[in-house]
Amino acid sequence: MPELPEVETIRRDLIRDVKGKKVKDVEILNPRVIKEPSPSEFKRRIKGSSFRDFLRRAKVLAIKLSSGDYLVVHLRMTGQLVYSAKKEEKARVIFDLSGGKYLSFNDQRLFAELRLVRDWQKMKFVKGLGPEPLEKSFTAGKFGDILKNKKTKIKPLLMDQTFIAGIGNLYAQEALFQAGISPGRAANKLNDAEVKKLYTAIQKVLHDAIRYHGSSVDEYVNGRGEKGEYHLRLKVYGREGKPCSRCKSKIKKVSMGGRGTCFCPKCQK
Ligand SMILES: [Zn+2]
Repeated sequence: MPELPEVETIRRDLIRDVKGKKVKDVEILNPRVIKEPSPSEFKRRIKGSSFRDFLRRAKVLAIKLSSGDYLVVHLRMTGQLVYSAKKEEKARVIFDLSGGKYLSFNDQRLFAELRLVRDWQKMKFVKGLGPEPLEKSFTAGKFGDILKNKKTKIKPLLMDQTFIAGIGNLYAQEALFQAGISPGRAANKLNDAEVKKLYTAIQKVLHDAIRYHGSSVDEYVNGRGEKGEYHLRLKVYGREGKPCSRCKSKIKKVSMGGRGTCFCPKCQK
């Protein structure tokens, strides 16, 4: 499932490739992905407007249109946004752009969602999101403050979007490995040094993943339809039974909050 680095990669690709382009037509091949408004209104309001800007909050992309509307894209499990010279075979919605190319919204499993709204900041789920981990205002001190009152296990807490925005199952596991912290530790029991280590690990893992254009562990591709490269650098995610890159112990997998969680029992305390 695309997390912050994947959505950020797509955002940067689209800024480079399609910012300023006009939507000549909207082809709706499966209306199920359009959650609001009606498919016909969706098409009518987008057609003729152009892409002004591409914004991101957590794992969600918001495309600002010249009409003043925002096209809000939630990729969920298998969603893709691909700019190319041909219409994608798996496309559910295709935006025909000025210049003769297409922006295809693909989604194999039909969990992804498109919404056209006037003010995306007012959307209920956006208002409920926690801080963005890569913003300057999110300091190690702030991170420590919000951890202090949380008695829950650290790993599911990192994935809680109301706590911090944008981290999911993959990057939570990687950040905890980098920090040397066991995923089952109680959040409020981390000492100051561990909080600092985890904060630094989150920053590093997310920045590195953006630098390598995200992790293509499932359907994810960037805004040009290419795979990312960060999955080649994963230390624990999906590596159950394989040797730890640091100590050669076997990576262990447990279920935590219903999600598979890999870690090194020796390196992570
Ligand atoms: Zn290890």
